[in-house]
Amino acid sequence: MDKNKVAHASKHESLNPKILSLDATDFRIVAEDAPVMLWLTNADGKVVFTNLKWKRFISGSSGQAPLASDAWVEALHPDDFEPCMKTFNDAFIEHASFQMEYRLRRADGQYRYVLDTGEPYLNKDGKFAGFIGSSSDVTDRKNHEDQLRLSQLELTQHNKEMQFINELNSYLQVCLSLDETHPIIEHYAKKIFADYSGVLYLFDETHSVVETAARWGHDECLSQTVISPDDCWGLRQGKVHVVDGADDVIVCNHIHGSCIDGYVCAPVIAQGEMIGVLTVTLGNADIVDDAGKLRTSKESRTRLIAMAADNLAMALVSLKLREALRNRSVRDPLTKLFNRRYLEETLARELSNGKRSGQHLGYIMIDIDHFKNYNDTHGHDAGDFVLVEIAELLRSKLRSGDIACRFGGEELVLIMPGASKEIAAIRAESMREAIEQHEFVYQGNNLNGVTVSLGVAEYPRDGDTSMVLMKAADTALYRAKDGGRNQVALA
Ligand code: GH3
Ligand code: MG
Ligand code: MG
Repeated sequence: MDKNKVAHASKHESLNPKILSLDATDFRIVAEDAPVMLWLTNADGKVVFTNLKWKRFISGSSGQAPLASDAWVEALHPDDFEPCMKTFNDAFIEHASFQMEYRLRRADGQYRYVLDTGEPYLNKDGKFAGFIGSSSDVTDRKNHEDQLRLSQLELTQHNKEMQFINELNSYLQVCLSLDETHPIIEHYAKKIFADYSGVLYLFDETHSVVETAARWGHDECLSQTVISPDDCWGLRQGKVHVVDGADDVIVCNHIHGSCIDGYVCAPVIAQGEMIGVLTVTLGNADIVDDAGKLRTSKESRTRLIAMAADNLAMALVSLKLREALRNRSVRDPLTKLFNRRYLEETLARELSNGKRSGQHLGYIMIDIDHFKNYNDTHGHDAGDFVLVEIAELLRSKLRSGDIACRFGGEELVLIMPGASKEIAAIRAESMREAIEQHEFVYQGNNLNGVTVSLGVAEYPRDGDTSMVLMKAADTALYRAKDGGRNQVALA
């Protein structure tokens, strides 16, 4: 240091010795080598100075050559151009300090987040002379912040999804049949997998095809309604199959065209039983909050889909078990018709409904003619076969609301809520005819000649309690037998 400067410094020591000991050249050096990007504009907004750090950022070179004054504008991210220009121009009009964050292309081509602060400065005459500013690369900080925000959002999202899965489970636990579960699963799937398409395929009773049980979203690639188990890599392997995008080569046969962003097939397996597969498109999972868009990972979505499949599996298997137990208690094992206990309960309920609504109810008692002879001639197994066939025939002729039961032995009952005696008689006659004309082929033998007699009664005309109504139908049935069998008699 020369003498002059020491003197200069000592003179102002009490104020701010470090800075005031520097002259203009020193300030130039400080500006050039400062560890932040510095810039200066003139009063027209033209960049007249950028320091070394700035030049290195934009051009990669540390040469002394000045940068083009619009180098900054050139490097701006296209999406940030407009808001930046507005802030910058407004600041120039108002001569007010500003701060903005934008993406700027670095020499290596990468866009970095830059925090830019500008302050107006005045010339000797106190007139506005331009802006002096500093910029710093805040990309790392911003990425950390985004990561944190994403973690928080994912946690919130996860909690929400778990809540929906729990709600779904609690409904599934009180469902009485698989059919009942379908709309409920669909409703919750739309919430759990909001914005994504999906299908829940379940095996049919024969376990040969997998049918749509629930569907949500409109993605063409998942439009297949029935699939073969061999069509799905998830089902074949018994484990989650992930297709990352349209380029993936191992794509299931049940996918139409391609799922642009990929999909996941999660088999629905519980207690070793494969009951179906849950297929959901992946997509780019954007979470949008006030601060913008964030992207959740495909991994976290895959985990969610697999978890939902496991939950469904447990719920559906336990439902099937309940359904089987319930069926066992209300169905006759041979004919699969409702049993007598169910008949008595249902009749009592339907009669009290009838009392309230004023509707009538048809009650038909059916008895196979000379069944004892039949058994004696063809054997008990052939008799069983005839019972099963007749039950199937009756079932095929039921209308919604009708209830078919095995009263006991070879006696069957049909309850028809809402049907008058006349209507019930017409339906009884059509059943009689159908049975008379049916070909009973058992073990290659044609066992024709099976007929039934039917007694028809009606609530309220023939009785207003179960006992009286049953008795009236029974009496009519005896009349049909007495009248020569293979006929319908009305109470
Ligand atoms: P009717 O025309 O008067 O009704 O004569 P029927 O022989 O059918 O009448 P009956 O009541 O004397 O005999 C009913 C027979 O039905 C007795 C029994 O062998 C047969 N039966 C009852 N339940 C079953 C069953 O589950 N399987 C078979 N194979 N036969 C049954
Ligand atoms: Mg009988
Ligand atoms: Mg009989």
